[in-house]
Amino acid sequence: MVQNMFRTGFLVRATHTLLTWVITLILFLHNTDLRRCEERGELLLPVLFFLLVMLSVLLYFAVSLMDPGFVLTDTVKGSNEEMESMIPQSSTPRLRRCGYCLLQQQPMRAKHCQTCKRCVRRFDHHCPWMENCVGERNHRWFMVYLLVQLLALLWALHVALSGLSPGVSWDLWFRANGFLLAALGVVGVFSAVVLVLLGSHVYLVSVNCTTWEFMSRHRISYLKNRGDEHSPFDRGPLGNLRDFFCACGAVAWEATYDRSAANHV
Ligand SMILES: [Zn+2]
Ligand SMILES: [Zn+2]
Repeated sequence: MVQNMFRTGFLVRATHTLLTWVITLILFLHNTDLRRCEERGELLLPVLFFLLVMLSVLLYFAVSLMDPGFVLTDTVKGSNEEMESMIPQSSTPRLRRCGYCLLQQQPMRAKHCQTCKRCVRRFDHHCPWMENCVGERNHRWFMVYLLVQLLALLWALHVALSGLSPGVSWDLWFRANGFLLAALGVVGVFSAVVLVLLGSHVYLVSVNCTTWEFMSRHRISYLKNRGDEHSPFDRGPLGNLRDFFCACGAVAWEATYDRSAANHV
């Protein structure tokens, strides 16, 4: 984990951490709601805000440094031998070989990430802000992180707006509120991005489709020849969300696909 922290992702993680704490500091140094609470000795809200920001940073690092579900060569061989005995091969597309890391049988829904240089189980996307893949093992934590980050950003937006002070001229107003306006701009842009990301991930998880499958259906061997747009892994919105948040360990997607294909015929 320590070795991971000092690889290429160091710069992006340091930027995220620095930006978060600089904005938090700006909010506490101006005459905002939080500052006024602090001066009155009412520490509950300032402490809660600080803890929420701290939680968002911890979740960011957890998702960023977590194994997203890298495929292990020997595990793949074992699990596929098991699957071959369970699944009638005629109704399941042949498992592909990865041309990059030379896996003999890439599990269904896995994809090779060119940045991480590994195959990732139920690959969703490679997140440049995390400098890590989002896949089977860290996807649910990625969504928890997005939710906590969104709450922290919306609260920060409200706090920043509460701190804007009036000025007798535009020049003086900009001078008095410059840092707060910059923080407001950054927080506003990130709030919009995180809101769109969270909304799209909730939708995709509820229909059991990954970002990669949604964007590249026509290139994916197990999807491109199916007639409808329906995901072959879909078990209904509640079933999908329950499986997504409660599943432990690797999922045999070939078995789910097979059942769906059988129903489809
Ligand atoms: Zn690979
Ligand atoms: Zn990756």
